[in-house]
Amino acid sequence: MHEQNAEYPDLRKHNNFMASHLTPAIYAKLIDKTTPNGYTLDLAIQAGVDNPTDPFIKTVGMVAGDEESYEVFADLLDPVIKDRHNGYNPNTMKHPTDLDSSKIHSGNFDPRYVLSSRVRTGRSIRGLSLPPACTRAERREVERVVVDALAGLKDDLAGKYYSLTVMTDAEQQQLIDDHFLFDKPVSRLLNCSGMARDWPDARGIWHNNEKTFLVWVNEEDHTRVISMEKGGNMKRVFERFCNGLKEVERLIQERGWEFMWNEKLGYILTCPSNLGTGLRASVHVKLPLMSRDPRLSKILDNLRLQKRGTGGVNTAAVGGTYDISNLDRLGLSEVQLVQTVIDGVNYLIECEKRLEKGQDIKVPPPPHKLFK
Ligand code: ADP
Ligand code: MG
Repeated sequence: MHEQNAEYPDLRKHNNFMASHLTPAIYAKLIDKTTPNGYTLDLAIQAGVDNPTDPFIKTVGMVAGDEESYEVFADLLDPVIKDRHNGYNPNTMKHPTDLDSSKIHSGNFDPRYVLSSRVRTGRSIRGLSLPPACTRAERREVERVVVDALAGLKDDLAGKYYSLTVMTDAEQQQLIDDHFLFDKPVSRLLNCSGMARDWPDARGIWHNNEKTFLVWVNEEDHTRVISMEKGGNMKRVFERFCNGLKEVERLIQERGWEFMWNEKLGYILTCPSNLGTGLRASVHVKLPLMSRDPRLSKILDNLRLQKRGTGGVNTAAVGGTYDISNLDRLGLSEVQLVQTVIDGVNYLIECEKRLEKGQDIKVPPPPHKLFK
């Protein structure tokens, strides 16, 4: 029996992945370890300690402060990752990457139901601490490296950087209301994990003229790379995502930097829920009848989809319009995840149409366990 460390957090009311897997024994083993940048287990779990539950989704409850966190705190992170990612075992498996958008089929939704389509990922710059732990200088270095690289984008992708420190409040609010920009640092996750420090220093958004290709700088990740447009053409959105992302990576590498990546965990991001592809392909879809059907949650679970509110994570759905996206990120490729969303959303639209005609709908069978 381990005597419980005097610092052990009280997790009795908690329902997040960290709390499900932290034990006094693991805590005792990891509590005195630090990454080369000085990040500790207590810092990594603080957001989950301070946020026992979330009204909308089951959160991970811990973050990484740097690339090394995933190794130094693996005794806790590996089981958390396995649980959150449907059984993916980072010790025996390799994560696949596939950015070949030509493999996608039937990616054009009925625009009467799908109002807009979006694909995003995150990328971290190797050698600089992640937002929960970075210094002001590191954060400004991320901004400098990324903005300098993005200036090399051409043609349809060419655009401009807009720093939060110089835009007016009205401009910022308009970008948020139009779903282009991350929220103000209001979320408890951002605040409790240390990611909101020094706000808005070195934060901003880069976008092309049409606002169809966007890069967030220094929110939850060093970068978030986004392709989006109105309507239901998810295939085109994914095509632009793949082309743009490959260009961004090339431009970053040309300047002597690289993204955090390894073959077990794929792309390394701040929240363990985003490891692997970091990809969230989402639609804003109108499902007023389905939204009142008690089977909706089960149907989404079985399709490996997640619902969020119209304003994003931690918001409620307005008028039966949901943000529906892939639940998984790791162990499956970008192409597989986007196809899962396309097939699943088509199924949901079919259900909505059946309910409109007074017909019954079926809960699809649960997927096979993705990883054994
Ligand atoms: P992320 O996964 O990118 O962090 P959030 O849930 O934090 O997503 O939402 C960020 C913003 O992106 C919000 O304004 C949200 O409404 C918007 N958004 C997400 N998906 C879509 C979509 N398909 N169409 C339009 N806006 C979207
Ligand atoms: Mg977010």
